[in-house]
Amino acid sequence: MTYETVRAAQRAAAPWPYAELDVRALHAAGWRPTPFHDVVLKVHQRCNLACDYCYVYELADQSWRGRPVSMTPEVWRAALARLGDHVRRHELSGVRVVLHGGEPLLYGADRLGELAQAVRVALPESCQVEIGLQTNGVRLDEPTVATLRQHRIRVGVSVDGVRADHDRHRRMPNGSGSFAAVAHGLEILRRPENSQVYAGILCTVAPDTDPIACYEELLAFQPPALDFLLPHANWDQPPWSPPGTSTPYARWLSAVFDRWFSAGGPVPIKLFDDIVRLILSGASHSEQVGLSPSGVLVIESDGTIEQVDALKSAYEGACATGLDVHHDELDAALADPGIVARQIGIHALSPACLECGLHRVCGGGHYAHRYRAGRGFRHPSVYCADLTELIKHVHTRVADDLGPARTSGAG
Ligand code: SF4
Repeated sequence: MTYETVRAAQRAAAPWPYAELDVRALHAAGWRPTPFHDVVLKVHQRCNLACDYCYVYELADQSWRGRPVSMTPEVWRAALARLGDHVRRHELSGVRVVLHGGEPLLYGADRLGELAQAVRVALPESCQVEIGLQTNGVRLDEPTVATLRQHRIRVGVSVDGVRADHDRHRRMPNGSGSFAAVAHGLEILRRPENSQVYAGILCTVAPDTDPIACYEELLAFQPPALDFLLPHANWDQPPWSPPGTSTPYARWLSAVFDRWFSAGGPVPIKLFDDIVRLILSGASHSEQVGLSPSGVLVIESDGTIEQVDALKSAYEGACATGLDVHHDELDAALADPGIVARQIGIHALSPACLECGLHRVCGGGHYAHRYRAGRGFRHPSVYCADLTELIKHVHTRVADDLGPARTSGAG
């Protein structure tokens, strides 16, 4: 597809921002883009699991079918050259490169090590580089972890709570559960010699599960950090809710928050840390809440430059920029209206969000969750009711703890 074809398709599917956001006017008003500080390399496009909620394989965008299975050295060399230019041009003091898929461990630990070495060579010494990898954990055996340790690749693992809950969604292609294999991988990761490798656990919220049992199960794996994700959904594909409930995600997350907060926050939980920080007038670090500009860019296995994967849940081609590391600088993506929309904070919010007393904390929720077909991304989150309840709950707990004078921003 040509650049013009991609732009035309984006304008039709999402008039806001692709037809209606005036990027030139923003520049004229003094707005400047935020350089990319997180670059995701899709090193392997296939997965050894068949999770039923996966945004890559099970939702609207099926573009993975037409891409090479794995990234060739020729593509990652081009990608790293572009990243090196970007870092030097913007004099970035730090970047994170995330090895992603599909399942990145299918790429092979040795090839990942070779790539990690090349990342460090490609970037100037003045730039601190963190290399991360997000895996389903099934292939984490001792030789693999040793190789990742040798190359200082930090590993995040996806786990959805207790065995029965995890195995309900995160299944092998033959239908059997993956929990036992993941638990084995985590046993290896949590050994003292691997403490520099173990980055943490990501969990997708399932509102019909026991939140405390889930949280305790995850804590037992001694992760250095945790995060909880809302399943990707939008106004055309709303999130699943148990019958008779209106805010099941807020209830689930509030229960975990109470347990975590009462225990003094024994492990960093990004979503909760962000909400508390925002209530105390700080800034967010994730894409789920807050108004901080997003600095994430994705490079697919064929070298195409894309926006964050979560947008694949909205419509076919939602991540596309029409750019490619073989022909384009990463800076070209900073002018893409989709990327600009995720960097302008309050200016991307819908009128309803602007009138909402919580908008500085909520930030309209995850950008992907605002999508409505034929209109685009200028709407409240499809999780609006849950976000409202969760933020108010956290605000009340924090205010009780610190006194109301220390909190702000949550109405
Ligand atoms: S709570 Fe709802 S209306 Fe308020 S900012 Fe968030 S998504 Fe928008």
